[in-house]
Amino acid sequence: MDLTTVREFLPVTDAAALRRAHDGNPATAVVAGGTWLFSVPQPHLRTLVDLTTLGWEPFAVSDAGIDLAATCPVGTLESVPFRSEWRARPLVRQCVRALLASFKVRSVATVGGNVCAALPAGAVTSLAVALDGVAELWAADGGVRRLAVEEFVTGDRRTALAPGEVLRSLHLPAAALHGTTAFRRASLARLGRSATLVVGRRDPGGGFVLAVTASTPRPHVLRYREVPAPARVAADVEEVVAGRWVDDVHGAPDWRRATTVRFAADVARELSGGPS
Ligand SMILES: Cc1cc2nc3c(=O)[nH]c(=O)nc-3n(C[C@H](O)[C@H](O)[C@H](O)COP(=O)(O)OP(=O)(O)OC[C@H]3O[C@@H](n4cnc5c(N)ncnc54)[C@H](O)[C@@H]3O)c2cc1C
Repeated sequence: MDLTTVREFLPVTDAAALRRAHDGNPATAVVAGGTWLFSVPQPHLRTLVDLTTLGWEPFAVSDAGIDLAATCPVGTLESVPFRSEWRARPLVRQCVRALLASFKVRSVATVGGNVCAALPAGAVTSLAVALDGVAELWAADGGVRRLAVEEFVTGDRRTALAPGEVLRSLHLPAAALHGTTAFRRASLARLGRSATLVVGRRDPGGGFVLAVTASTPRPHVLRYREVPAPARVAADVEEVVAGRWVDDVHGAPDWRRATTVRFAADVARELSGGPS
């Protein structure tokens, strides 16, 4: 939709110009793919700052893991060259496909826009929290801080971004990429938005990570020294979510609760080598 209150569109090309343009004024927002920003009225906005003109390399792969620029298109994630020993590779495709949109939307929607929009069904958020992703944040005064993505997304459309702060990149550490993952997702319609998304990860050392997204307003990550019994992980999920299930057109809270708990037990079973 047209954002008729917007008066200025600023394509910035370096960090200094970004800091000058995005200084914390609530009438200014950054825009990346624009697939969320232009989908809802934004009457408070007067200025948009275009991040895509910064020319950030979409991704970098090293021994330390994978760095994804905030401006990396979601559709590009599947072409990131994984090292052969990184067993988490299938999770990338699963999460990209969980963003229920055409290839046209996926080719402009960005990694950073997905995490910063902070929708419960944020598919990149699901990927990042399951792989211990860390966000690099640039402040308007030039400061840089890092925050685990599970702490960065604080609620439905809420993040830990301070005024004027920009998400620069996500780091997915090699240690997590070595893990074997199990993925479960539920949606009310075959091509519907994720209502429940659960990922389990078993690390080569035996540790187990469970990431719950979509059914809860913010991500929840549970960590264990070894794969827990299915009943235990199911009970732990109930306890940590404490009844705060999402209630919207994409699914009722009791159904989201039931699918989440079942999937949590399922992925623990699958990664323990038992029947799933
Ligand atoms: C058909 C369709 C289906 C969709 N399905 C899903 C879905 O299944 N799950 C889902 O989560 N979303 C979905 N979306 C919404 C949206 O497309 C995605 O969330 C997308 O990833 C947003 O990325 P973007 O680059 O377009 O963000 P934009 O729209 O450009 O920005 C989104 C928000 O994040 C802020 N922002 C963007 N980049 C940064 C940054 N680097 N630092 C700080 N703030 C930033 C913007 O100011 C804005 O508030 C869908 C949209 C469409 C049109």
